Order: sequence, then C-alpha cells, then structure tokens
Amino acid sequence: MILDKFSLKDKVAIVTGSNTGLGQGICKAYAEAGAKVVGVSRRPSDETAEICGKNFYNVIADLSDTAVIPTIIGKTVEKFGRIDILVNNAGVIKRQDSIEFSEENWDSVLNVNLKTVFFLTQAVAKQFIEQGDGGKIINIASMLSYQGGVRVPSYTASKSAIKGVTMTLANEWAKYGICVNGIAPGYMATNNTEALRQDGERSADILARIPAGRWGTPEDLQGAAVFLASSASDYVNGFTLAVDGGWLGR
Ligand code: NAP
Repeated sequence: MILDKFSLKDKVAIVTGSNTGLGQGICKAYAEAGAKVVGVSRRPSDETAEICGKNFYNVIADLSDTAVIPTIIGKTVEKFGRIDILVNNAGVIKRQDSIEFSEENWDSVLNVNLKTVFFLTQAVAKQFIEQGDGGKIINIASMLSYQGGVRVPSYTASKSAIKGVTMTLANEWAKYGICVNGIAPGYMATNNTEALRQDGERSADILARIPAGRWGTPEDLQGAAVFLASSASDYVNGFTLAVDGGWLGR
C-alpha cells in the first residue's frame, strides 16, 4: 500500500535544533509517523519531549563545535541501537551590512550551518554503512541557497554551500543506499525570522512577494520532511525541495 511507504515506524531519527521552530515541527511529525526521535539541542527540548511522548530522547549539545559529534552518535546508538535518519536543521543567521560584516559573524554561522553539518553527516553516514542498509539525510537549506539575500553574507554562503554539498554526498553515497536531500523552506514564522517580521517595511515586502500570501509555519514543512525520510522517496537523491508558498517560482 502506498501510504505504508510513508511510515517511519521503528526508524531512528536524529533531528538537530529540536527545541523550537522547524526542528520541533519535524520531531512531532516523525513521532506521529512512528519514529524514535533523538532531538539535539543546546537548551533542553522539554516542550518537544512533551509533544512527542515516550519515543523522544534529548541530547544536549552545542553544534558550534564538532567535538560533540561522537557523543551524539554514541548516545543515539546506546539509546535506540541504530540510526536511520538525520535531519540537519539547527542553524543560525547573523544580519549585518556586508561592508562591515565581522569575522565572528562569518565564523559562527559557517561553523554551525556548514562545518558541523558536514562532519555530523559524515559520522552518521559511517554508521549507516556499518549497519549495511542505507539511510536518509535531510539538510535544511533556504531560499538563500538560490538567491543572494541582503545583509546575510555568511548565511547565504552556508546555505548555498549546503545545497551543493547535498549533491556531492548523494553522488558518493548512493551506492550504499544512502539518500541525501535538502528542504529549502521559504519565509517561515519562527525565531529565525523574528527580526524580519518586526521590521514593518521588510515584512510587508516579503509578504507581498509570497504567492501563498502568508508566512509559512513549521506544519508546512512536515509533509516534505516525512516524505524525504521515508521509503516513498528511495529514488530521490541529491535534490533540494522548496517548501516556499511559491516564492521561487515568482
Ligand atoms: P529557529 O527557531 O531559530 O531554530 C534554529 C534552531 O537551531 C534552534 O533550535 C537553535 O537553538 C538551534 N541552534 C542554533 N545554534 C545552535 C548550536 N550552536 N547548537 C545547537 N543548536 C543550535 O529557526 P528555524 O526557522 O526553526 O530554523 C531551522 C532551520 O531552518 C535553520 O537551519 C534555518 O536556517 C532554516 N531556515 C529557516 C527559515 C525561516 O524562514 N524560518 C527559512 C529558511 C531556512 P536555540 O533555540 O538554542 O537558539
């Protein structure tokens, strides 16, 4: 039955940035689809744990440092025995005019959004290869994987790179049954866009350009996140799917 292919029953999923926003929405969707969910966050994901119930396990880790990676893998395998899905959702954005953009704002964004994503993905892929039956990796990209944006050069660099690296890894790891795909959210109402939504002029400009006529929500991302984590998408590899209310087509 086709709907059975969307089930995540007994799959083990790691979702980074699980305490809030899009990551929390993905944890909820995976728990509803039957997965055991390991949420990685630098602050406790208590609200997410309440939403997801007994199949949620929180690992506290600051993803600005790759040193946390062995702990994330170790605790997941110790708790649930294996890994089937990784969602690289945690991300930061720093806004500053490019002419004055600081090295700190460059490094802090690139470390979380690109460097740790790459090395966590590499570590999970090694686990997938050892397990011998493939796996699913989903990188959360952005409209700024396709466009330039304004005042966010390190964020645009990281999200453009993530779309490219998604294709590289799909090319190299398809032979192991590993699918590496991306989801590019449009403009979603979360902490990430709080400053934009507070800026009346920018907010009105953005809203006027979204064909759907509204900001997206964490719920809007859930279908794509389940699809790309499930066997329904086994022949989808290296692609970044926009969930953007039509923004890119405009
Ligand atoms: P958010 O509410 O700000 O969530 C970002 C998540 O990343 C939070 O859980 C945050 O933890 C976590 N995080 C940041 N730095 C971390 C670190 N050093 N270690 C561990 N966790 C860290 O925003 P969101 O919209 O849900 O963002 C989720 C992803 O979607 C990000 O990759 C973002 O770039 C991407 N995205 C968002 C939009 C949008 O319009 N909202 C559009 C395109 C792409 P704290 O809560 O502790 O900061």
